[in-house]
Amino acid sequence: VVLTDNSGKQVYFVNQRLMQRLSLDKAGDFSLNRLFCNAREALHFREALLARHRVDDWEGLLAGDPPYWGVLSGRLLEYRGGPAQLIWSYDISVRKDMEQELLMLATTDALTGLSNRHAFMQRAQELLKTAERFEQPCTLLMLDIDHFKQINDTHGHQVGDKVLATLGELLRKELREVDIIGRLGGEEFAALLPQSDQIEAARVAERLRASVEAMPQPCAGGAPLRMTLSIGLASRHPAEPLEGLLGRADTALYKAKSAGRNRVVRATS
Ligand code: GH3
Ligand code: MG
Ligand code: MG
Repeated sequence: VVLTDNSGKQVYFVNQRLMQRLSLDKAGDFSLNRLFCNAREALHFREALLARHRVDDWEGLLAGDPPYWGVLSGRLLEYRGGPAQLIWSYDISVRKDMEQELLMLATTDALTGLSNRHAFMQRAQELLKTAERFEQPCTLLMLDIDHFKQINDTHGHQVGDKVLATLGELLRKELREVDIIGRLGGEEFAALLPQSDQIEAARVAERLRASVEAMPQPCAGGAPLRMTLSIGLASRHPAEPLEGLLGRADTALYKAKSAGRNRVVRATS
């Protein structure tokens, strides 16, 4: 809690908790610039308070060791016959951490750490919109492990899980930071490659296919584990919605399966 005159230069009161948080020797050392981590935000807060005479529910990163998230309120009022500012805040860092954790849990596939289906679709929509706006190419890969059921049946579900996690790692390593990768479900993955046309993306897909084929796999009880990947790919058409792109990549994947698996097939339509 802090009470100052309207200029903020004369400080009437700072409560003990805030004195500690900001390591102030005396109340007079307080300023909004010291309260906020970001000087710009201090300015915005001040402007909002002066314009509206009251501010509520303002979430900001506040200075401290370490800095913490606070929710702030402010009032313009009269004190000692002049205009003054009363500002108070609560520490909401625990709630912020929980929100972060929830967001992570809601958007991440626990086994691979990749985006889950829902998060992938959301991010893909955004990426596709950007590609549309800048008239850039963008290519979708649908990837499905071949005969994964057999891997599970032969080596057990746990080894199957390990294989999925290893594939997730490989995709992250081989693809670029800007590419978005998701586990759509089971042993099916997808990657959307911005600014990559079909030719370039096919090269990437082929590299992935070859690395998976050559990838050393966890081996349960000596039985050799061979794993291959089928990939279908499609590049966006102008104004094509995500569903259309997914459908065409899926058809290409189906063709890769029926043509014998362990291959990359490009959409023809
Ligand atoms: P195809 O080459 O045609 O893709 O054959 P497939 O065996 O890979 O495909 P199918 O859809 O018949 O089987 C997928 C298997 O994936 C069946 C399911 O038990 C297994 N599976 C799905 N999710 C998980 C998982 O989280 N962990 C493990 N270990 N297995 C899973
Ligand atoms: Mg499969
Ligand atoms: Mg499948």
